[in-house]
Amino acid sequence: MTPIENVLNRLEKVKQRQPGQWSACCPAHADKGPSLSIRETTDGAVLLHCFAGCEVGAVVAAMGLQLHELFPPRDVPPGAPKRAARLLTAGQALELLASEATLVFVSAATLLNGRTLTVADKNRLIESVSRINFLRNESIGGGHA
Ligand SMILES: [Zn+2]
Repeated sequence: MTPIENVLNRLEKVKQRQPGQWSACCPAHADKGPSLSIRETTDGAVLLHCFAGCEVGAVVAAMGLQLHELFPPRDVPPGAPKRAARLLTAGQALELLASEATLVFVSAATLLNGRTLTVADKNRLIESVSRINFLRNESIGGGHA
């Protein structure tokens, strides 16, 4: 199951707004209207935003998920596009960077709200930092000899 399928399965009143974008009732507060916006990034990560102001960590916890489950697993199944492709376009690199930066931000927000990160979340955070460094090296290096 992909992260977006996993998330959508756990939400009520899911409605697709446009390709890659849904709305649903927020599980973290008593939601009458669909206050939760769900987006899938091009690399398969899920971005959540509650317009009533719930923090992402609370929404994720209310779904019974962990933060790292919003992001695709490290090992990409055969046939799926390679995450660490040699030649990324600037747009792809920025999209990846945005998705990793979101994970770092969500982790920080979770800690600031007095929650703790699971071991899996902590490992995923460390992986984010190494992916961001990878992206920097790729763009500074330009071509590989
Ligand atoms: Zn909410």
